[in-house]
Amino acid sequence: MSNILQSLIDIVGDKGVSNAPEELWFYSRDPGVLAPHKPDFVVAPKSTEEVQKIVQLAGRENIPVVPMGNGMSLAGLVIPLKGGIVLDMKRMNKILEVNAMARYAVLEGGTSQGALKAYLQKNHPTLRHSLPDAPPTTTIAANVSLHGQGRLTNQYGFNSDMVTGLEVVLPAGEICRIGSPSIGPYWFSKGPTLPDLSGLFLGWLGSTGIITKVGLKLFPNKKIRDVELFVTDRADLVPKILYKLTHLEMLEDINVWFQPKPQMFLGNFHITIFFTGDTEEEVEFIPGLIEEQKQDFMSDLADLEAENVEDSLGTQTEEMEEQVEEMPQEESELDQEQEPILAGSEMSLETEFEPEESPGESEIAETELVSGEEISEEPTEEFDEIFPGSEEASKGIDNLEEAKKLLTSGEVDQSINVFKDLIKENIFLEDIISNIQNALDHHYPINIDLWKTLGDAFLKNKQFQKALDAYSKAEDLLS
Ligand SMILES: Cc1cc2nc3c(=O)[nH]c(=O)nc-3n(C[C@H](O)[C@H](O)[C@H](O)COP(=O)(O)OP(=O)(O)OC[C@H]3O[C@@H](n4cnc5c(N)ncnc54)[C@H](O)[C@@H]3O)c2cc1C
Repeated sequence: MSNILQSLIDIVGDKGVSNAPEELWFYSRDPGVLAPHKPDFVVAPKSTEEVQKIVQLAGRENIPVVPMGNGMSLAGLVIPLKGGIVLDMKRMNKILEVNAMARYAVLEGGTSQGALKAYLQKNHPTLRHSLPDAPPTTTIAANVSLHGQGRLTNQYGFNSDMVTGLEVVLPAGEICRIGSPSIGPYWFSKGPTLPDLSGLFLGWLGSTGIITKVGLKLFPNKKIRDVELFVTDRADLVPKILYKLTHLEMLEDINVWFQPKPQMFLGNFHITIFFTGDTEEEVEFIPGLIEEQKQDFMSDLADLEAENVEDSLGTQTEEMEEQVEEMPQEESELDQEQEPILAGSEMSLETEFEPEESPGESEIAETELVSGEEISEEPTEEFDEIFPGSEEASKGIDNLEEAKKLLTSGEVDQSINVFKDLIKENIFLEDIISNIQNALDHHYPINIDLWKTLGDAFLKNKQFQKALDAYSKAEDLLS
């Protein structure tokens, strides 16, 4: 081991190699969750020739080598599972060339994203590269070796597609050039007019060779950038809007994200659209095109929702008619004030569900129906269900508690499913109604399904006018 240490010092100098425990501890891990494993040496070369000599030494001594940029890929890729050498590339950080007319840059294998960005901003403000959202200290060679994605991926492909040439040290120590730099001084293309051999290295995570130089395509950097954002809870419609937006071929980037917390984000897909231009006119023109796509989206949404509501309202109308038919004759003849409600239930929901009496009258009618139930001598189905000791009762209560919990934690769709089952069984209706009303008052006033479920609960609870009001609210929200 001491011979190897000395050999490494001979190659990179004593400042470029270490086997101090604190260094080995640091280089044994990345910030991800995988178990650490210590290397035997950390070596930081400064040139392709030094990399070559290190690889040759490692080959002779049968020592594994793991190249490392900034160690931020978080997947354990730079953890040296078999010990050996971690080759820290960060001292190879020179920007060797920017060919502005041919729009490419040539960089050493440890150059960071932030360094290239800063260099271009200062020296070539009309040029940019496809910057990932990774920390700026991460390296460009590492990123292309894992097919990274950046701000221009939407338009031009993976960052590895933007490579215009490579210099690589192979496992036996040969130095190999790929693409146009293998036949001349220019780094404009990794393939044509030669066979494209870059696939032997790009995507191989450093396992087939160590990238010591990389040519990278540059793109126009526009003066103005703007952003639009819209949010939908319809995951099924997201691919279509993305298809339409990308069809414009005028957007810099589109970012779709969702996250469960905080609660306001739950169930929502945020679509962030970036676009750029060199003039105000360009940047003002693009939002009009985006708006057209959004209008198409809204009409698709309205069609789908209308289909759903038609289906569910059809079922609800049938249920109401059945309930009315089942009502005891003397109850339906109790007084005239019930008639508008019962008549309403037989009409088409779309055309006839106008509130026809004052809220006061409606309240009276409902109270009478409920009190009709209260004086019944037969134990109700609901009573049976909640009778203490009954197995179904405790299952029902568990489900109710579960649904309440789901609702307050923002899992609205799931809570609706559980509520619907309870409503079907005709149990805990009052409790369900008050919970949904509370949620609509405070958190989800524009949730169509929640309004429909409230309507269902009122319907089963024989509060017909309130059921109609809730369904009307759902319909209003749709239009
Ligand atoms: C907050 C955050 C956001 C991120 N966002 C993005 C993103 O938008 N897009 C994206 O693509 N990634 C993203 N990443 C993942 C990752 O950070 C990047 O892919 C980054 O480019 C990795 O660079 P690195 O220098 O840290 O690579 P490292 O982790 O050091 O290395 C990655 C792989 O490349 C190999 N390697 C390193 N240098 C060389 C070399 N010179 N020659 C050959 N092989 C080499 C290593 O052995 C390893 O297999 C993100 C990470 C974080 C933490």
